[in-house]
Amino acid sequence: MTEINEIVIVLKWSGKEFPISDLTDQDTVEVLRHEIFLKTQVRPERQKLLNLKYKGKPAPDNVKLCALELKPNFKLMMVGSTEADIEDACSLPDDIGEVIDDFDDADGREETIENSAVYLAKVQRRVRDYKIKELATPRENKKLLVLDIDYTLFDHRSPAEQGQELMRPYLHEFLTSAYEHYDIVIWSATSMRWIEEKMRLLGVANSDKYKIMFYLDSNAMISVHVPERGVVDVKPLGVIWGLYKQYSSKNTIMFDDIRRNFLMNPKSGLKIRPFRQAHLNRASDKELLKLSDYLRQIALNCSDFNSLNHRKWEHYDPKKNS
Ligand SMILES: [Mg+2]
Repeated sequence: MTEINEIVIVLKWSGKEFPISDLTDQDTVEVLRHEIFLKTQVRPERQKLLNLKYKGKPAPDNVKLCALELKPNFKLMMVGSTEADIEDACSLPDDIGEVIDDFDDADGREETIENSAVYLAKVQRRVRDYKIKELATPRENKKLLVLDIDYTLFDHRSPAEQGQELMRPYLHEFLTSAYEHYDIVIWSATSMRWIEEKMRLLGVANSDKYKIMFYLDSNAMISVHVPERGVVDVKPLGVIWGLYKQYSSKNTIMFDDIRRNFLMNPKSGLKIRPFRQAHLNRASDKELLKLSDYLRQIALNCSDFNSLNHRKWEHYDPKKNS
């Protein structure tokens, strides 16, 4: 008699996790798709199961789950939309974007946090303990560009059948252009596996026009307590600067759609306009194109980025800031 084992798969979809627990290893991929439908309302034919592989290829519906050799609590990544979402994406108003508790008014507070001994000690611990997996070697005399993913390079919340649909326009042109003067790091407040999967999906991981130096995930971040706001997680550039002495606030710039991520290095951050509702904004979004130009200009004309005000990047004048 065949042994039947219960299995739990954790589905990651649309920024959330859904445990799919009503399965055994004798069920087929088709059954799995049905269970996913029950949880998410994404119809089986619309489910793109990114990392469900059988012999190196997308797993066919008739294969049993036991044949896929899944680890316990396997995280299955899905892209796919519900019928309702597909209708919504075509009819939503322009500015329905969620309200994010951000720190646009936090100017005064930033300095005290940036220099707090407690937080600098936390950064030192990350420098010591966080293992960076270098994908490309740092190059001589390059500046450093650190990029967020979600809403900066990719709309992770909109429904889509292909990851490419959610990519911010001009992403590859932007990275190609930036690579000329900058070593590039991707830093996302998610898990390393998810980052790697997204970068593969977008074709960033294997571009022959540019290289990403390394990825940083949520484990490289630190928690900071801000009066009135409570505890927030931020991305301290000191983690990189501590390990790579050639980079500092003089030659580093970081893009993120959430300003609070810059709390430990407010002067190095450029808050990018979030890329949301990809289906509506794909045709008109030119942020990355404009920012390519800014990056090039400051790389060529500015010897100390501390002298820049990234809040006014659109009005940058090389003659005034050299
Ligand atoms: Mg983001």
